[in-house]
Amino acid sequence: MFSFPKVSFDESCNTLRSEVRSFLDYQRLNGGFTPCADCWVSAASPEFSQALGAQGWLGMLWPKQYGGHERPALHRYIVTEELLAAGAPVAAHWIADRQSGSQILRFGSEAQKLSILPRIARGECYTAIGMSESQAGSDLAAVQTSAVKNGSGWKLNGRKIWSTGAHFCHYMIVLARTSPADGRNRQIGLSQFIVDLSLPGIEITGIRDLAGSPQQFNETLFENVELPDDALLGTEGHGWQQCMSELALERSGPERFLTTFICLETALPAIAQYADDRRAALIGKLYANLRVLRRMSLGIARLLQNGETPTTEAAVVKEVGTRMENEIITDLRQLLSGIPAKDLPEGFPTLLRDAILHLPSNTLRGGTTEILRGIIARQLGMR
Ligand SMILES: Cc1cc2nc3c(=O)[nH]c(=O)nc-3n(C[C@H](O)[C@H](O)[C@H](O)COP(=O)(O)OP(=O)(O)OC[C@H]3O[C@@H](n4cnc5c(N)ncnc54)[C@H](O)[C@@H]3O)c2cc1C
Repeated sequence: MFSFPKVSFDESCNTLRSEVRSFLDYQRLNGGFTPCADCWVSAASPEFSQALGAQGWLGMLWPKQYGGHERPALHRYIVTEELLAAGAPVAAHWIADRQSGSQILRFGSEAQKLSILPRIARGECYTAIGMSESQAGSDLAAVQTSAVKNGSGWKLNGRKIWSTGAHFCHYMIVLARTSPADGRNRQIGLSQFIVDLSLPGIEITGIRDLAGSPQQFNETLFENVELPDDALLGTEGHGWQQCMSELALERSGPERFLTTFICLETALPAIAQYADDRRAALIGKLYANLRVLRRMSLGIARLLQNGETPTTEAAVVKEVGTRMENEIITDLRQLLSGIPAKDLPEGFPTLLRDAILHLPSNTLRGGTTEILRGIIARQLGMR
């Protein structure tokens, strides 16, 4: 029913892991970053992204002719999980490296690949996801943003919402209607566009979130934006299928269960000083659950490398993983109860506070828990 192939690490993986850890130690000690929770969304540092690019740790799977490094999926997995576990500031390049670049590689024209991918791989070019609209979140096929043929290009009109990082991104991959829905089949007539966010007619406005950040995500208005013909990504009318293939990349990675891990990692030395049976049992449970999730997520990395589209498996990892992120915080509160504040590491209260304030987004972004359960139930033949 579900496939999570077993993956094992060879010597090259262990070497790479040591290299990434040394790099992160160096960056931390030399002011490169202060660890934070939810780092792949909350902490953007173009300097850090470019440093990763210089190491060859972005675009790792892509062909060399497009600036990539032709490394195995497992190597990319190791780099991403080490960055997340360290709470490193990876938000600037995250979406571009994880999904938009791969989308362009898969569906883009030669000119699009040559122009955009090398810049992403250098950590210099960032992208946003332009799917959601105020009336089209879970019901994505209801998007009303339209792109109409206009001479040799397209005219784009509409309004996207929750566009993470759009205010610093260079491009947004926009899902727009290019022809009317075919009766009840609303998935027909949608197309994807690579929209240069510096074009006239685009207005990006920050939305303040619960954690107080004034512009982590945005509302993006497109008013008579003139797109060149080659802004179309892939095939006209195939936007829905293209978006769906993107979701396996978006939902299956270690960012779907490691968002709050840095809090646990940072608190562990203090917890160890107060070790008892109750704490040992809780840590054991968290460890076991994380091992299982990692095993599943690694299996998906292998499936993706084999060219498969494991949409349902990715839904399972996101559904279980984002619940796990909440569980880490709930259990951490119990683990810390009775430990004096003076024994906690410096900066820990801020780290924990930010993680708690970001928790509600984990089970929403990238598809809500209810929607994921629907996908899983369908695969199991239950609906
Ligand atoms: C932090 C954050 C970052 C985001 N970043 C981006 C981004 O960069 N780009 C982008 O395009 N979008 C982004 N999103 C949007 C995200 O994908 C949507 O919020 C999500 O798909 C849910 O859509 P909605 O908010 O419109 O909620 P709705 O679809 O209105 O859902 C509201 C509630 O109803 C439930 N519900 C809806 N339909 C059903 C159903 N059929 N069965 C059962 N329950 C249902 C949902 O589970 C949810 O609990 C982001 C969201 C967040 C929170």
